[in-house]
Amino acid sequence: MMAKRWADAARALDAADPLRPFRARFYRREGEIYLDGNSLGLLSRDAEASVLRVLDEWKTLGIEGWTGADPPWFSFSETLSRSVAPLIGADPGEVIVTGSTTVNLHQLLATLYDPAAPIRKRILADELNFPSDIFALRSHLRLRGLNPDDYLIRVPSRDGRTLNEDDILAAMTGGDIQIVVLPSVVYTSGQLLDMERVTRAARERGILIGWDCSHSVGAVPHALSEWGADFAFWCHYKYLNAGPGSVGGLYLNRRHFGKSPGLAGWFGSRKDRQFAMDHTMIPADGAGAMQIGTPHLLSLAPLEGSLRIHHEAGMERLRAKSLALTAFLRELTEAELAPFGVGVATPPELQRRGGHLALIHPEALGISRALRRAGVVPDFRPPDIVRFAPVPLYTSFADCVEAVHRLKTILETQAFATDEEAAGLVT
Ligand SMILES: *Cc1c(COP(=O)(O)O)cnc(C)c1O
Repeated sequence: MMAKRWADAARALDAADPLRPFRARFYRREGEIYLDGNSLGLLSRDAEASVLRVLDEWKTLGIEGWTGADPPWFSFSETLSRSVAPLIGADPGEVIVTGSTTVNLHQLLATLYDPAAPIRKRILADELNFPSDIFALRSHLRLRGLNPDDYLIRVPSRDGRTLNEDDILAAMTGGDIQIVVLPSVVYTSGQLLDMERVTRAARERGILIGWDCSHSVGAVPHALSEWGADFAFWCHYKYLNAGPGSVGGLYLNRRHFGKSPGLAGWFGSRKDRQFAMDHTMIPADGAGAMQIGTPHLLSLAPLEGSLRIHHEAGMERLRAKSLALTAFLRELTEAELAPFGVGVATPPELQRRGGHLALIHPEALGISRALRRAGVVPDFRPPDIVRFAPVPLYTSFADCVEAVHRLKTILETQAFATDEEAAGLVT
């Protein structure tokens, strides 16, 4: 059993929560506590309405939708980009909603990486990076005729869970690095890197720096332009709740405007020249030049409704509640779950925390499955992490108490071993 004081504390926090009304705008399953919004955010009524409107425009307008829809499909990406830009701390022209996380990384490397540079040819990433980013970096080097084993350097992690900014800075001092690509938030432990410090250090050394903001966009405020980052890329299906496979985003600092897109296509053209159908491309002035082909309208539409919610809630209030939720979850975990061997991998400091809390336990996989059976949706990341992402738009403090209560029951009854596992059939 859990002490009543937790429920009381949660009730007081929920009552004082200015974001509480937003919960009703999301589709949530009765009795279920959804803590996986850092993998796939839930559908809001606003996002649904945007998709239905675009479907209706297709139904009633056909091809005329490109110019006659409201807003017109032809410039829908640009329209949404203006609303994403403040979330990343950029000028509107520096952001474009397009592609997907991995494709956008490929495009940015194709545009910015120079394999013919005389000495600085290496790319620096890190040992904890999301696999897709590493695959993209390696394949890009191969495409450019360079052996990734020699040209991709990964900053090691001291503890296997977090990165130390001093180690990143040390790896940038050799004079051989051309580009650094790092995650803003480490997807396993939830560590938020000191993006400002690392960005400024890279700039001082003449190194290009790009951030994978998949786990921070919509969860953490950014000031990429002020810090001087060269580029960034992200998805919108995590904290921005734009749906599975929704169109991603990228940021290109204005100092790189005018560079030819490495992977060119007609949607990167200046809008007024796109239908001139000339074989000489005139790229758009800003980040829009990084677009390739026809935008995926039906995967773009939900972002419109999601962004409306986000701006109504306000990034500062979202971050404040997110920090309060993860602090509360940590307190609950330390008090109620530590006796069962549950630890926390996420750094405790506010400024080093992204949007989720990473719990550690040797039976993390079994625990994650047992939680789903018990109506709590977390996710598992090998080898021993259960991620709990309380999303400020739709998770309450009472949800945190209930999730920890259900987890405690699982631990008390050892309900995390399935019958097969208990019988030793599955390892
Ligand atoms: C979610 C995520 C991705 C996903 O890449 P897609 O191309 O959108 O599938 C990439 N990098 C990081 C750090 C992520 O968290």
